[in-house]
Amino acid sequence: MSFDALRAAQRNLPENFAERLAAVTGPGTIITDPIARQRFLAEERSLFKSEAEIVVAPASTQELSAIVALCAEAGVPVVPQGGNTGLVGGAVAGLGEVLVTMHRMNRVLEVDPENFTITVEAGCILATIQDAARKAGCYFPLSLGAEGSCTIGGNIASNAGGIGVLAYGNTRDLTLGLEVVLPDGRIWNGMRPLYKDNSGYSLKNLFVGSEGTLGIVTRAVMKLFPEQRQRETAFCALNSPADALALLALARRRSGDDVTAFELMSRFSLSIVVEHSGGQDPFAEAYPWYALIELATPRGGEDLRPIFQGIVEEAFENGLILDAVIAESIDQARRLVALRESTPEAQKRAGGSIKHDVSVPVSRVPQLIEEASAAVLDLIPDAHICAFGHVGDGNVHFNITQPDGADKAAFLAQWGAVNERVHAVVARLDGSISAEHGIGLLKVQEIRGHRSAVEDEMMVTLKRALDPANLMNPGKLVALPPSG
Ligand SMILES: Cc1cc2nc3c(=O)[nH]c(=O)nc-3n(C[C@H](O)[C@H](O)[C@H](O)COP(=O)(O)OP(=O)(O)OC[C@H]3O[C@@H](n4cnc5c(N)ncnc54)[C@H](O)[C@@H]3O)c2cc1C
Repeated sequence: MSFDALRAAQRNLPENFAERLAAVTGPGTIITDPIARQRFLAEERSLFKSEAEIVVAPASTQELSAIVALCAEAGVPVVPQGGNTGLVGGAVAGLGEVLVTMHRMNRVLEVDPENFTITVEAGCILATIQDAARKAGCYFPLSLGAEGSCTIGGNIASNAGGIGVLAYGNTRDLTLGLEVVLPDGRIWNGMRPLYKDNSGYSLKNLFVGSEGTLGIVTRAVMKLFPEQRQRETAFCALNSPADALALLALARRRSGDDVTAFELMSRFSLSIVVEHSGGQDPFAEAYPWYALIELATPRGGEDLRPIFQGIVEEAFENGLILDAVIAESIDQARRLVALRESTPEAQKRAGGSIKHDVSVPVSRVPQLIEEASAAVLDLIPDAHICAFGHVGDGNVHFNITQPDGADKAAFLAQWGAVNERVHAVVARLDGSISAEHGIGLLKVQEIRGHRSAVEDEMMVTLKRALDPANLMNPGKLVALPPSG
């Protein structure tokens, strides 16, 4: 269902519903001030806009449970929202829906450095969790450009990836236990800080990546790791994505798999970061491709630098690297990482962009970039290919920026046609059209063409089993066919 169709299907709120909600909530939970509500209604890419008349900010699981139970009883849909940084319209609430923002449930509850776990409320900001882990001598590896504002609940709901997936896995791999308010208001307490638990279906994994369509995550137990004690960062100039993969394999082998991040950037991606986001090109001349490599280890000592230098030297000898800068300070390392992380922001300033968050088997990334570029340039010959991403996990943000001087609206009108061509290449290469950002509203129709009938039926069955009235973030992730 498109957002417009979804809106058309929506009902008005029952009479006096705000008053009924007020009766089950504490002071400050219902946000009525129109200006205060704006930040929850806007959407990161301005592709959609929330129109919810009621925004609630529960302070506890019990309060949220009462809100959801009342909504269920009255047949009012509920839309969970964390930091509102998602990129597929998953936290957008239409008329007649209640938007639940989790920002008041933002505490770190416990750090257990012996069990290597951290227990948090779902509205806790990702950067806060990283800091709390660091203070306890541990490391929380989930890291992404929006970490200063996204929440762990949103990360869990969207199974966020980011730059640490290569070494530590995505959010699913980091999640041990969850507490969830179910669509009827009941609370499921699955807060087990266990590394081994084979006691039945993995319920927690149903909620990870469910984009708020099966329930609202309220608390979580996440894995920690030993603090990293050595870290090296380099920015390398390369000829091609194929050379990037060869460099990655070399670095993994020579370091004993200490590679913690491996990010690819095209020349165009770096050039817009330099032009629009204050980045500094580390090299005097322009090269076709770049890789940001990070090696890190909890080992003490000083062996990582010579290992890293050995990798870079061998890559030079093999012709895999054309030039390289190894960071000499933490500050320089941060600046190199920022070149990659500023790309989405720079893209906004560079004009209209048509985006694809796709993945293919790592070894097929060069083929993806080559074939998808050809397919797009055949349609829009002067478009800029802004390919970058977590290429160590086969995840490329294959984005297209409008041709110089083009009309933005006319360019964006080709979104569907461009998507179709790129996603056809992805399908041919056994890839996924949503590597890490999820489905939300943006891809809810298109994903059906990429799922088998059996897969689609299982998704619908799960959704109907846990949310028979289709009130929990309806219209996102699974487009329910009419029941009956
Ligand atoms: C600059 C930038 C860089 C980014 N980089 C990455 C990246 O590298 N990797 C990546 O994976 N993503 C990335 N993202 C996307 C986004 O930051 C992540 O998807 C993030 O995990 C969303 O968290 P959030 O708290 O903002 O969730 P929101 O945007 O608020 O919500 C996202 C989805 O989760 C649901 N949800 C939120 N909270 C809960 C909850 N408590 N319980 C149940 N459902 C909930 C919402 O309904 C919605 O469907 C980036 C975004 C930006 C703006």
